Amino acid sequence: MKNYLTLTIILILTVCSLAIAQTSGKYTNLFSEEKLKSTIRFLSDDGFEGRAPGSRGGELAAKYIANQLEILGIKPGNNGSYFQPVSLVAVKADPNTTLNVGNAAYKFGDDFVAFTGAQTDAVNLNAELVFVGYGIDASEQKWNDYKGSAENYRGKILVMMVNDPPATSQEPNLFGGKGLTYYGRWTYKFEEAARKGAAGVILIHTTDSAGYGWNVVRTSNGSWRFDIARTATDKTPFLQMRSWMTEDAARKMFTQAGKNLDELREQAKTRNFQPVKLGLTAKIDLKSELKKLDSNNVVGIWEGSDAKLKDEYVIYTAHWDHLGIGIPNDKGDTIYNGALDNATGCASVLSIAEALTKLPAAERPKRSSVFLFTTAEEQGLLGAEWYARFPVFSPEKTTANVNIDGGNLYGLTNDYGALGAERSDVMPIVQTILAERKMTIALDSHPEQGSFFRSDHFPLAKVGIPAISVRNGTDYIGKSKDFAQKTFDEFNKNHYHQPSDEFRDDWRFDGVVQMTEISFAIGLQAANAPVMLRYNSTDEFSKAQPNRK
Ligand SMILES: [Zn+2]
Repeated sequence: MKNYLTLTIILILTVCSLAIAQTSGKYTNLFSEEKLKSTIRFLSDDGFEGRAPGSRGGELAAKYIANQLEILGIKPGNNGSYFQPVSLVAVKADPNTTLNVGNAAYKFGDDFVAFTGAQTDAVNLNAELVFVGYGIDASEQKWNDYKGSAENYRGKILVMMVNDPPATSQEPNLFGGKGLTYYGRWTYKFEEAARKGAAGVILIHTTDSAGYGWNVVRTSNGSWRFDIARTATDKTPFLQMRSWMTEDAARKMFTQAGKNLDELREQAKTRNFQPVKLGLTAKIDLKSELKKLDSNNVVGIWEGSDAKLKDEYVIYTAHWDHLGIGIPNDKGDTIYNGALDNATGCASVLSIAEALTKLPAAERPKRSSVFLFTTAEEQGLLGAEWYARFPVFSPEKTTANVNIDGGNLYGLTNDYGALGAERSDVMPIVQTILAERKMTIALDSHPEQGSFFRSDHFPLAKVGIPAISVRNGTDYIGKSKDFAQKTFDEFNKNHYHQPSDEFRDDWRFDGVVQMTEISFAIGLQAANAPVMLRYNSTDEFSKAQPNRK
């Protein structure tokens, strides 16, 4: 009788808690403004010296995060350790380098910039130049700029355009229509050319196609360029030379070859485009300074409750690194604190970890939850790239990624941004959760900028994990229509990647709670979904998950 009674009570309790989970679906009481605030303030303290990867302050921040996970009872994620070591290499090209084409000499900085992917201090190239249009090989778009024999490209220096081919009236959705696909990003161009066995690439810069001026290319390539350190067993192909050239210099080079750059660019906008040998040889003696450094991703895991599903995962990501100590601003401040970018995301993901531990046992998610705090995001998503290349938990078994880079410090909104949700089964989950809260999804207002390719979810998407990156809403409660754009512009202009991205007393934390709670709810539904989530069959990342049923 007693047993029977206990069983009944358990049944009633179970039914009740299920009912609560289904009808309310809100977890606001699991999050605290004060905790988020104090974590953001602490992680952006000058004592962490801007959290550069491999620096004392940066690695201390990583240790703090691991310590917080441990206190919460989140288990170490990497075979008993909270740390996944990440080895990085940085190169800085000699600014006196020249690129010689025929009898013309092109000047580093003014005409072109170059950095090696070989991770050696000296590279010597003497190779034929071939124009390959957009440099894209995309079977799902039935587009291939690499026509003919592989020998046309092996060991050559390939000259190409940035961005992806424009949509046409017949094919308005070609390469994502107005939006940028990954095929338009310069990182893709380098990777694809390396896969084709090229020795080097020269990207033709135009402000229009790149979305930023030559000064940006010049500054970012004139300094240290980071890469994942190549191990002896790493078979990832690489380029001896990765280079950008100004449009003027490219025009001059094509004239040397007796070709018309504009005509060739027009031809490259169609599928019938044929690569063009320029009949010229480029020579470069590229000397570089080289340095190695060691850093760490932080990984923790909260095991799922379902014996069958606990070996499948939802992964939450936030980068802990920022830019360290650098050039002083006009107030003499040299510490790039990275309070918004990304102490905020770290605080949010830590809060999500805590919320999971506070859920009643009956609501513990079926799949396991992984917390990945990456290093070297600011150096080119390298910690996430490392994780994607050497995953601790199989990408095939990882159902979704929720990435938080930044956060809403300006108040409550009627909408929520989930960059990339429309690419996969994550979308209906986001819609359900927002509908429960009478909220809407904030659309990407600048699809042409390819924001999806600019934070840590992206390397995870490339290995087939359906991913979203959380963005601020755009419709602030009680604020004017242009408030979101104004705050965004103000931050971008005055604080983004500057020493003044510091903790501010006028920040509000209700918006961070709202954004974090929704992100948590999305992760929770993904962890409990009946099947693993998939990319839409038309999406460029669907081919990275061939075995997902
Ligand atoms: Zn960031």
